[in-house]
Amino acid sequence: MLNRRSLLKHLSAMPLVGGLFGGAAPIASGLAAPALAPRNLVKELGIRTFINAAGTYTAMTGSLMDDDVVNTILASSKEFMLLDDVQTKVGEKIAVLTHAESAVVTAGCFSAMTLGLAGVLTGMDQKKVEQLPHLEGTDIKSEVIIQKGHNVGYSHSLMNTGCKIVFIETVEELEKAINPKTAMLWFLNIQSDKGKIMHQQWVELGKKHNIPTMIDIAADVPPVENLWKFNEMGFDLVCVSGGKAMRGPQSAGLLMGKKMYIDAARLSMPPRGSTIGRGMKVNKEEILGMYVALEKFIARDQDKDWKMLEARAAHITDAAKSVKGVNVETFAPELGNHTPTLKFTWDIAKVNLTAKALQEGLRNGNPSIEIVLNDANGINMTTWMLKPGEEKIVATRLKEELMKAAV
Ligand SMILES: *Cc1c(COP(=O)(O)O)cnc(C)c1O
Repeated sequence: MLNRRSLLKHLSAMPLVGGLFGGAAPIASGLAAPALAPRNLVKELGIRTFINAAGTYTAMTGSLMDDDVVNTILASSKEFMLLDDVQTKVGEKIAVLTHAESAVVTAGCFSAMTLGLAGVLTGMDQKKVEQLPHLEGTDIKSEVIIQKGHNVGYSHSLMNTGCKIVFIETVEELEKAINPKTAMLWFLNIQSDKGKIMHQQWVELGKKHNIPTMIDIAADVPPVENLWKFNEMGFDLVCVSGGKAMRGPQSAGLLMGKKMYIDAARLSMPPRGSTIGRGMKVNKEEILGMYVALEKFIARDQDKDWKMLEARAAHITDAAKSVKGVNVETFAPELGNHTPTLKFTWDIAKVNLTAKALQEGLRNGNPSIEIVLNDANGINMTTWMLKPGEEKIVATRLKEELMKAAV
């Protein structure tokens, strides 16, 4: 938590905040209000906090917002603005940063997908906007084509428009499945190795048949280049989460792509009602916070970040390996959650411990630590959600738990 002093320090060090309102005075007077009463709700409500050695999981509240994002949220909360004005101006900046024609901040990647498809279905036809998600008996298209290997729960976002999903495996099957009701071709980057058709060909098939394409890259930055790679490749719509590695608000995401579809998607977005998107509101604070998160993420030194994450991983690895019978493998998933990841396994004859018991031990310790179970009866960790220095605590606690079970 930021206390008042550190907050003031951050604010004065932050050019953007002063620039937002053309001066520091209104912010300073805003801060003098008792809005920041030193109330510790975490303690008051007995909410468990923990060191996150697991990763950017929705259930674990994603990532921790960058301080500049929090400061932007606080500063922008002191003024009224028109929601559409904020979206338009932020969208223009985000489009430039991501090499897209247009962009809008959505309530996460999931809603970016629902709203992007809504835009494809309705165009600028207000009557169609109000008909969604009831497509039967209308002339609105109603099918989205997906490769079988790309089928995950998140494709439900597409069904929220009223569309049904048609699964295919090969190019032949895809071309056979295309019919006048086909609205869109959807691609899931994180499972691209589980399908037979790759990105470029997917885009080309869309262009050949004049059907828009969308890609889900929710958890797929870093590498930072993914923010523009798929816009440049020709996907009509690109959807990404804001509250994972980018450290924006957890409930924010980006819909990027062709202006005609983004303009249309916005007809289904707040402040407009009678739409499927009315419940997918993003407040001005989060829209602005998302913009700052994106800007900062792009400006980061990726190589330096990577080396820092690897150094943390090495520290934890060394501690675990000092326990006899423990094996640690380091890898970085290629397609999503691309970050140094540690896979711990152990010889039960030397360390008599189940993965579940180790998870419980770390969770119930002080401080509480979250990790994830892997498919080899062991545990996995990442180091990108750790605060500086927490790798030492994780290393010590892990070693303690392993040693306790040493035979
Ligand atoms: C996290 C995730 C989503 C949902 O993103 P939100 O920003 O939480 O809405 C969608 N698709 C994939 C592949 C994801 O990993």
